[in-house]
Amino acid sequence: MYDIVVIGAGVTGAFISRKLARFNLNVLLIDRENDVGNVTSNANSAIVHSGYDPVPGSLKAKFNVLGNKMFDQISDELDVHFYRIGSITVATSEAQLDMLKGLLERSHENGVEARILSKEELRDLEPNVSPNALGGLLAPTAGIVDPFNLVAHAVENAVDNGVVLHLDEEVIDIKDLKNHFVVKTNKASYESKVVINAAGLGCEKIARMVEDVDWHLTPRKGEYFVLDHYDLGLVNHVIFPLPSEKGKGVLVSLTSSNNYIVGPSSELVDDTEDFSTDGPTLGDVRRQATDLIPSIPFNQVIRVFSGIRPTTSRHDFIIESSKVNPNFINVAGIESPGLVSAPAIAEYVVDEIVSKLLNLEAKKSFNPCIKKYAKLNELDNKAREELIKENPEYGKIICSCEKVSLGEINDLFARSVPPHTVKAVKKRVRAGFGKCQGGFCSPYVTLIIAKHYGINPTEVKWDKDGSEILLEEVKHA
Ligand SMILES: Cc1cc2nc3c(=O)[nH]c(=O)nc-3n(C[C@H](O)[C@H](O)[C@H](O)COP(=O)(O)OP(=O)(O)OC[C@H]3O[C@@H](n4cnc5c(N)ncnc54)[C@H](O)[C@@H]3O)c2cc1C
Repeated sequence: MYDIVVIGAGVTGAFISRKLARFNLNVLLIDRENDVGNVTSNANSAIVHSGYDPVPGSLKAKFNVLGNKMFDQISDELDVHFYRIGSITVATSEAQLDMLKGLLERSHENGVEARILSKEELRDLEPNVSPNALGGLLAPTAGIVDPFNLVAHAVENAVDNGVVLHLDEEVIDIKDLKNHFVVKTNKASYESKVVINAAGLGCEKIARMVEDVDWHLTPRKGEYFVLDHYDLGLVNHVIFPLPSEKGKGVLVSLTSSNNYIVGPSSELVDDTEDFSTDGPTLGDVRRQATDLIPSIPFNQVIRVFSGIRPTTSRHDFIIESSKVNPNFINVAGIESPGLVSAPAIAEYVVDEIVSKLLNLEAKKSFNPCIKKYAKLNELDNKAREELIKENPEYGKIICSCEKVSLGEINDLFARSVPPHTVKAVKKRVRAGFGKCQGGFCSPYVTLIIAKHYGINPTEVKWDKDGSEILLEEVKHA
């Protein structure tokens, strides 16, 4: 019997599991994907929002603001790139200048530091902003984070501290036997005293296995452009337009890896599995972005992608026990600002809900830090040379766009949440993230994975089942 089963290893389930690992509890974390953070948590803007725009008093406002404050410590403990570059919301008309004043009031109600910039101040901070820009709202506490390692390292830290992780396992039914639950997957059944539903876009389906909930999730897609590393200075902050009922709008920002990201769109969709992008939508994203920053070099685009938000009929996060059994906890509708909110949501779920259901006894051995591995890109030449002397694999470059070595990829397999796919390697060390998008390194990465797991290279997948890279052997060497 488990004390708790957490369904969903996105950022929400990852931080809840990490928080639970602080206590003497048997915790099982289940995800149907073959890697953690493989759905909405890997396809978003990756902005650690300051919290200037959620409706005051909402759960979004509360957890955004609390979560933002936790990121310096989290990024240090989990060895994740995080930079507080600040955000500027740009007004391009007199009416929008008035709206900025409303946003400033909202920021202060939410307890977020912000101030209005004059036209001249804005241009000093952002020389490439549109000539139509009349002013902006600066929120200095906003940041950018590496969303991939945020989730991978949070789960790794949870596993290092005793949480059991089952990937590639889909929850298909839950029986509520009143004093415990039976969670049935496509592979096995698990008894658990408490179940936490953090299944992202799958939350409503999971919740309805236990009760007829009074809320509904609607998927809303967002499409993006990613630009290659480009002369730094196109923008220095996260640049937003004024928010609307559709969301925060199309932003232009640096990423934590010095690329630029432009997007997202906001379209209601039916299919939660369709991550395709389309020309007209991206054309619209481009038009909206160039209204803010006219000189975006779209000839430097190296990738387009999309993510899907689970928007709720309540227009807010849903974080509560089920009405039929308090031991079933829904953490649903975690759309933006879910990434920044996740650590604070985890504190609330465990300290305020789980603590009333189970005896929480602190685990003395809990270590909040993960083991740090070498990152060649961040070392000076002397340190690199020493590392290569110790282990020549650090001297063999596999991804020449992003300068990722064999040693760094092999280190991944020693971690407690190792990669099994080419995409999982890409998310963790950025092999394949550069200009050639894996054209040169993915064959090597495929062979490295095959060698590590002792499988035939034709069995190695890019991502999900059916995405094998090599179809068949044509020559036997
Ligand atoms: C376009 C876009 C832009 C965004 N920008 C930002 C931003 O800049 N800043 C910010 O703070 N937030 C942002 N967000 C929101 C943020 O990405 C999400 O709030 C967050 O990733 C949600 O995490 P999650 O763990 O709740 O869900 P997910 O990451 O979707 O994880 C849920 C997991 O549950 C698993 N699952 C589902 N069903 C089952 C099942 N039956 N059995 C087992 N496992 C199951 C899935 O495989 C998945 O891994 C954005 C979102 C989008 C789409």
